[in-house]
Amino acid sequence: MNNKTIFEELLKAGKINVRNSALFNAPAKSKDNIDFDKIEGMILGVAVGDALGNTTESMQPADRRLKHGEITDYLANRYGDKKGVPSDDTQFTVWTLEQILKDKSYIPENVAAAFNGKKIFGLGKTVKEFLINSKKGKKWHEAGPDSAGNGSLMRISPIILPHLKNDEGNLCIDTALCSMTTHNDSAAIASCLALVNLIWEVVDMKTAPEPIYWLDKFIEILKEFEIREDYNPRCIPNVGYRGTLWGYLDKAVRNAYNENMSVLDACNRWYSGEYLFETVPCVIYILMKHGDNFEDAIIRAVNDTKDNDTIAAIVGNVLGALYGKSKIPERWLNNLSGRTTDSDDGKIFEILKSTEEFLKK
Ligand SMILES: [Mg+2]
Repeated sequence: MNNKTIFEELLKAGKINVRNSALFNAPAKSKDNIDFDKIEGMILGVAVGDALGNTTESMQPADRRLKHGEITDYLANRYGDKKGVPSDDTQFTVWTLEQILKDKSYIPENVAAAFNGKKIFGLGKTVKEFLINSKKGKKWHEAGPDSAGNGSLMRISPIILPHLKNDEGNLCIDTALCSMTTHNDSAAIASCLALVNLIWEVVDMKTAPEPIYWLDKFIEILKEFEIREDYNPRCIPNVGYRGTLWGYLDKAVRNAYNENMSVLDACNRWYSGEYLFETVPCVIYILMKHGDNFEDAIIRAVNDTKDNDTIAAIVGNVLGALYGKSKIPERWLNNLSGRTTDSDDGKIFEILKSTEEFLKK
């Protein structure tokens, strides 16, 4: 069964938490002359952001600053050296990419299987539940909890790969299926669709868009796909809020931008944990304030947020796709281990070579 049929059956049975939209059948767009530097940037942006953040993940920004000052480089990792090493953000992104390259397309059960039976660093609650469900024998489309955490958003970008070569209009279908594998939640699936559509656009851009683009584009896509309307964010800026993620971003992020808040103050206002109502406003706001410079944006994400490895990974994902590998600071690339496990140094760079081959063929 192809992904389109799988998706339509899940939708009809009410088993996937997303709104049906014309975008699921969007006409094919060709991307023949894609600059591979941008695809490398997209993947390495995740690895670099994750590695810069994961040594101080989950610390409050003020406590982190007290202990480390402003972080601009890799800190000593769990092995005691100052190389950039991966956590779950990089691991799931690379495993998704690796499986897509093997299959030459996105096959949901194979990607789900690739997530199982591995040593994962900094595993989140939702993915843990997915792994337990899988072990109990639940199928790939039954094992993902309806969690609005950021765990599918951080790993979603490789889904564009087969579509760069041969887009049959199924990019949104693949994205929704790929999110639901671990996060079958309206805000989670819609956020993945928004991020993937954003990346699909920025790989064609030569310069940074206007700051407001990041917010408006994300909201435009979320509006198409969100179905759940009763989320409660932890933070209530200005007025009491219960509703969709797009409605929340429209209030919280727009207000912060109009008030010209710093990234730190804004991210502290809405908190900056793994809940999408915290992660997404942080990502968008950092892109709005510092999207013109890869290094500045990553440094703000690493220093000014709590779930800093994932927020930096997603910011790196988008800006890596916009600017390419060539705009990632050399010191961050040179000191990146390229690992996906404890000791497979250089593995990410190898997989990127195969990715280039795959796109050429
Ligand atoms: Mg992580």
